Amino acid sequence: MSDMIRAIRGMNDLLPDQTPLWQKLEQVLRATAAAHGYAEIRLPMVEETRLYARAIGEVTDIVEKEMYTFADRSGDLLALRPEGTAGCVRAAIEHNLLRHQQPRLFYQGPMFRYERPQKGRYRQFHQFGLESFGISGPYVDAELILLSARVWEQLGLSSQVQLELNSLGQAESRSAYRNALVAYLEQYESDLDEDSQRRLRENPLRILDSKVESTQAILQQAPVLLDFLDHASRLELDEIQQVLDDSGVPYRLNHRLVRGLDYYNHTVFEWVTNSLGTQGTVCAGGRYDRLVEQLGGDSTPAVGMAFGMERLVLMLQQKQTETDTQEVDMIVLGQGENFARQALRLAHRLRSNVPNVRILVHLQGGSFKSQFRRADRSGAELALLLGEEELRNRSVTLKWLRTGAEQVAEQQTIQQDDVLDWLHQHWIKK
Ligand code: ATP
Ligand code: MG
Repeated sequence: MSDMIRAIRGMNDLLPDQTPLWQKLEQVLRATAAAHGYAEIRLPMVEETRLYARAIGEVTDIVEKEMYTFADRSGDLLALRPEGTAGCVRAAIEHNLLRHQQPRLFYQGPMFRYERPQKGRYRQFHQFGLESFGISGPYVDAELILLSARVWEQLGLSSQVQLELNSLGQAESRSAYRNALVAYLEQYESDLDEDSQRRLRENPLRILDSKVESTQAILQQAPVLLDFLDHASRLELDEIQQVLDDSGVPYRLNHRLVRGLDYYNHTVFEWVTNSLGTQGTVCAGGRYDRLVEQLGGDSTPAVGMAFGMERLVLMLQQKQTETDTQEVDMIVLGQGENFARQALRLAHRLRSNVPNVRILVHLQGGSFKSQFRRADRSGAELALLLGEEELRNRSVTLKWLRTGAEQVAEQQTIQQDDVLDWLHQHWIKK
């Protein structure tokens, strides 16, 4: 039917078969934010257009090409928010949240950008953002990064995302670098893509972020921001690296990382994945110490980051189809003469006593290694192992398969008759 009204291109309905994954993601993000002392703020979806021009920068993709702007009936120039930081800062100033306080805030909701819709890139998309005000770097920055690492852990995505880190330095070092970069790029001006040619005068750092291959090739030999860094920025970056090293969070220094918004200084970072094609950035953030002042507040250091929720949902969906479709809560593994009998008896008893529990009894045999591979694919949280010794003693070894804060003791062996009690104490059906 040609006259049927359809959704706007790039603006998606989330159907009931998708919402459970969204709910799970939202719950993990909220809980993790709260666990780090962040409180929720809810902000309007429409602001004055000039807020974004001033905050994000006139010469950015977002403001130049991607913003939904319109005049309302009284002629005021308004915009659908393309991101959350500007509005959050506006609200924090307007409601005096920054006076004598160092608020840590999070928000969540739709953002709007007029982009070419494709996998992982939409015109209405959702961000979960966190902003921390009033504390200079580097430790709040480091804590934010650790918070995001915790999110990956909770979502089971740690092995699929990599952290990239850079420092943009302070205004002086950036301007020295800017001059060097422009001097270098001017030699190749006519070979640069059109956007980059224009940026050469207006916003040359953004050229580093260009996705055009011929421009990327020219950038190979360009001067490197890291070489121009001021002492203070360098120390901050070192300190963040130290905290990440101490916490076992791997990262890669990427001196081309500049981010698409003008308000950043000092530390910037992105979490990227290879599993989504070119839409690889799933979380991005950095420090923006000048923005509050720029928007009319008292000078206030700040740092923030935002997760792109559609991209995370895509990753979670992929993971779900990669793991077995018949996902279970527990898997019973083992080998030995009496394995099948004892395993079936144990599983039967548990199913009778634990409502809705999903238990897979592994009856196909095979080495422990292959059985654990199977366990991993099953999505089970808990393995119940019946090896030779357990079968002899009527005991069972319990092993958590997914790491989580509440699951401290890795593995323990108890009597089969005690499993129910143990589950009541240690296993909460999610
Ligand atoms: P990209 O380089 O992918 O365009 P960006 O630098 O424009 O990203 P930010 O403004 O930093 O993105 O937004 C933070 C996160 O929000 C991104 O890392 C991404 O995960 C997500 N995001 C940004 N734009 C879109 C979009 N149009 N559709 C879906 N997610 C998006
Ligand atoms: Mg973009």
